[in-house]
Amino acid sequence: MSKRGFLRNTETRKRIRAYILERDGWQCHYCRRPFVEESDMTLDHYIPWSIWRQSRPRNLVGACYPCNQAKADALPLTFAWLLLRNAPALGLAA
Ligand SMILES: [Zn+2]
Repeated sequence: MSKRGFLRNTETRKRIRAYILERDGWQCHYCRRPFVEESDMTLDHYIPWSIWRQSRPRNLVGACYPCNQAKADALPLTFAWLLLRNAPALGLAA
């Protein structure tokens, strides 16, 4: 899945990274491991980019490298559950 255009602007990316570090208290959103340096954080799309092309801070969380790798393109469980629960209404289920 191409992420072309994802935070291409360096200044915007820096600003968003700084904002998310502060918002999430300098820790991984998933395992709560603290970040020692700014570079320890990766930006993760909470709802995968392939589903919702949204790169605003509300769809971004700070994740450590292992968590980002482990999650990859998976859906957060709560969102997957909501999606399944509403599948008939959304026309997603047979
Ligand atoms: Zn983590």
